Amino acid sequence: MTRATTLAALNQRIVVCELCQRLRAHCTDVARMRRRAYADWEYWGKPVPSFGDPKAHVLALGLAPGAHGSNRTGRPFTGDGSGDFLFPVLCEAGFASQAKATRLDDGMKLTDLWISSAVRCAPPGNKPTPEEQRNCAPWLDQEIKLLKNLRVVVCLGRIAFDGLLAYESRSGKLPARPRFVFAHGAEYTLPSGLIAIASYHPSLQNTNTGKLTREMLLKVFRRARELAEQ
Ligand code: SF4
Repeated sequence: MTRATTLAALNQRIVVCELCQRLRAHCTDVARMRRRAYADWEYWGKPVPSFGDPKAHVLALGLAPGAHGSNRTGRPFTGDGSGDFLFPVLCEAGFASQAKATRLDDGMKLTDLWISSAVRCAPPGNKPTPEEQRNCAPWLDQEIKLLKNLRVVVCLGRIAFDGLLAYESRSGKLPARPRFVFAHGAEYTLPSGLIAIASYHPSLQNTNTGKLTREMLLKVFRRARELAEQ
């Protein structure tokens, strides 16, 4: 895999990636069948590129696109229940220009924040295989290196947290037995110097049950801002 020299060039490569046959087939099938509520949509159906402020000090790292969310709209956390929970929080914390993310041309602007995911194609049942996670990891490696001002990574869910630790490990920086444990609100300075904040993922399963509340997520992003400004 040759290296991209800008985040825009990296995104152009990501959207044509075909490495995971199972995921590509699933995304294409979902885009063809569509959900009745979105029958008039032309689904994105490709790997979902990251978006935000290329000068960001903070990265929000998710799990993977939702089949009828990002896989439909083409932008992370846009057009699904997770985004409906996340963006009002990002707006209140000063990272997002508006609380609603519905489609690519909705006017959303991020400041000091870049949003990405550990896996960039929607997986069946929201469960990518370990092999698919490994396949997609080199995109994250390149992305982190291109985010020149990056200081803080908010890991939305355990798979994102493990993905960031795997990045550190591939970079040869993580000790053989790292002592970083996933827990909501846990904060670690990693050997690379990046600060990781772990958070429960804003999935409907977590937000509808109260496992993750708006206040809990807001606290995480306010802390990320505080750390980024130090
Ligand atoms: S999940 Fe990642 S590696 Fe796999 S096809 Fe999609 S973009 Fe490529």
